[in-house]
Amino acid sequence: MLGLMMDMPLTVTSIMGHVERVHGGTGIVSVTHDQPRHRCTYADAFRRARQLASALAAFGIRNGDRVGTLAWNDYRHFELYYAISCMGAVTHTINPRLFPEQIAWIVNDARDRVLFVDPLVLPIVESVRPQLQHVETIVVLSDAAHMPAVAHAGALCYEGFIAAQPEAFSWPDLEEQTACTLCYTSGTTGNPRGVLYSHRSQVLHSLFSCAVDALALSARDVVMPVVPMFHVNAWGLAYSAPLVGAKLVFPGPKAGDGETLQNLMDTEQVTFSAGVPTVWLALLAYLRRTGKRIDSLQRVVIGGAACPWSVMEEFERDHGVHVHHAWGMTEMSPLGTVNHPIRGTETLAPDEQKARRMKQGRAMFGVEMKVVDDSGAELPWDGRSAGLLKVRGPTVCAGYFQETGPVEAHAEPGWFATGDVAHIDADGYLQITDRAKDVIKSGGEWISSIDLENAAMEHPAVAEAAVIAVPHPTWTERPLLILVLRERCALTREEMLAFLRERVAKWWLPDDVVFVTQIPHTATGKILKTKLRKLYTDYKLHDDEEGKVSGCPPGQ
Ligand code: AMP
Repeated sequence: MLGLMMDMPLTVTSIMGHVERVHGGTGIVSVTHDQPRHRCTYADAFRRARQLASALAAFGIRNGDRVGTLAWNDYRHFELYYAISCMGAVTHTINPRLFPEQIAWIVNDARDRVLFVDPLVLPIVESVRPQLQHVETIVVLSDAAHMPAVAHAGALCYEGFIAAQPEAFSWPDLEEQTACTLCYTSGTTGNPRGVLYSHRSQVLHSLFSCAVDALALSARDVVMPVVPMFHVNAWGLAYSAPLVGAKLVFPGPKAGDGETLQNLMDTEQVTFSAGVPTVWLALLAYLRRTGKRIDSLQRVVIGGAACPWSVMEEFERDHGVHVHHAWGMTEMSPLGTVNHPIRGTETLAPDEQKARRMKQGRAMFGVEMKVVDDSGAELPWDGRSAGLLKVRGPTVCAGYFQETGPVEAHAEPGWFATGDVAHIDADGYLQITDRAKDVIKSGGEWISSIDLENAAMEHPAVAEAAVIAVPHPTWTERPLLILVLRERCALTREEMLAFLRERVAKWWLPDDVVFVTQIPHTATGKILKTKLRKLYTDYKLHDDEEGKVSGCPPGQ
C-alpha cells in the first residue's frame, strides 16, 4: 500500500521558492574585485537569477548543458548556482587554483558551453582559451566599469549580459533526479573525475546537514563560508544557509586573508564559519599579532583534512569559538560525519574529551558507514580495528560523470570505497587514520601519518606538520616528519623527537625531521603528499643515535 502524501520533487528550485517566500529579506554580503562590501537580499539575488536564466535561455542553453564557473565566493556566484541549475542546466564549478592545463582538461571533459569567470582568474583562462574546445563564450563576473583589459574581444560583461533581461522567468518543473551541479575531484593521481550531483541529493544534503548534531544552522546565524563555492558547493552552505534563513557573508577573493576575515566577522557579526585547517592558520596568526577579536563567532566546522588540536585549542581558549571536526569528500556532497558530544560525556576526564574531539565525528543521518579488512569482511566498531572505509546513502555518488566502465570505488555493489583508512568506536565516532595511499607500512604494521602529524602539531613552535613514508631497507618504509615552524620560533630535530617520544609508540618515532619554510598544498588547501613524496624519494635517513630508532621492531 502506498502512502497518500503529495509527491513534490525535491529540487533546488524548491529551496529557492521557500527562501524567496520566507527569508526574502535576509541579506547577502560579499567582497568582490569591484566592490569592497556589496549588500543585497535573497530576494534581490533570485530576481537577478531569473534575469540570468533568461539571458542563458536566450543564448541557447538547454536542459543538461554544462555551464562552467571559475569564481570566488560572492553574490554573483550564488546567482549562477541557482539560475543555471534551476533552468535545468548543470552548474559546473571549477577550481581557479588548478594549473591552466588542468582547467582546460576539465572544461573540455565537461563540454562546458559558457564559462563565467572572475576577473582575477581571467588571465589563466585567456592563456588556455585556444585549447577550450566547446566554450562558445566567456562572461566576466564584473560590471562594465571594471572589465579587465586582458579580456579578449568577444568576452561579455556579466552585468551587461543580464541587464536588459526580464525579471520574470518560468522555472521548469524538474524531476528531482535531474543533474544539478558538477564538481571534479582533486585528482592527485590520474585525471580528475566528475561528480554529478542531482537536485534531490543537494536538497537532502542540505536537510541532513542542518540538523543540530551536524551544522546546526538556523535563522539566527550569520554564516561565512570560507570553504570555496568551487569545491563541493562550499560544503552545501550555498543551499543550507539560505534554506534556514541564515544571513550569508562571502569573503570573495579574500578568503585567505586574516585581516579581511576578522573584519568581516566583526562587522557582520558572523556566528558560524567552515573551512579546511590551513585557512584558519592565517586568521589565527593575524589575531595573535594584532590582538583583534572575533567575539560574535560561536562555531567553526573544520574538515577536509585532519584538524590539529592546536587549532581547536586556540579557537576555544583565546576566542571562545567551539570547533567541530568534520569529515567528508567530494563524492559525498561532501559531509559524512560531524563531531558533537553525546549525552553523558561531559564528565569524562579532559584527556578523554580531547581524544574524542579529535575524531572526525559521527555519521549524519543519510550516511551509512562500515570499515572492512583486506578480504572485505566488516570490522567491529571497537575504536581500534582499522580498515578501508566504505559509505553509502542518497548523497553519495553512484558513478563518475561520463565513465561507463567498472569503477574501483564501487567494486562492492551499493557501496562506495572512500580510499580512507579508519576505525569507528562503540559510540559511532569515526577516526580517519590515513588516506590509504598515505599509510606508512613499517615492518608489516601501519603507522598513522595523521596521528604523528597531530602529535607534532601539539608543540607550540610548530605551525604545520606533514609525515610521509620514505623507503627503508629493513622496515620497507619509515616515517619522515616535515615541519614548518611558527614565526620567531626555534626547534631542533632532537627536541622534536624528545617531544614525540612522550606521545607516540617508540616504533612510530619519525626517523628524521626536516625543517622547511613551506609545505606544498593542493588547490583545495590540503597537504600535497604526492609532491612531498616526490621531493623526498631519495631521502637518506640519518644513521645516528635517533636514526637507529628505525631499527626498533613494531610493537616495542
Ligand atoms: P576531497 O574530495 O578533495 O574533499 O577530499 C576528501 C578526502 O579528504 C577524504 O577522503 C579524506 O582523505 C580527506 N579528509 C576530509 N576530511 C578529513 C578529516 N577531517 N580528517 C582527515 N582527512 C579528511
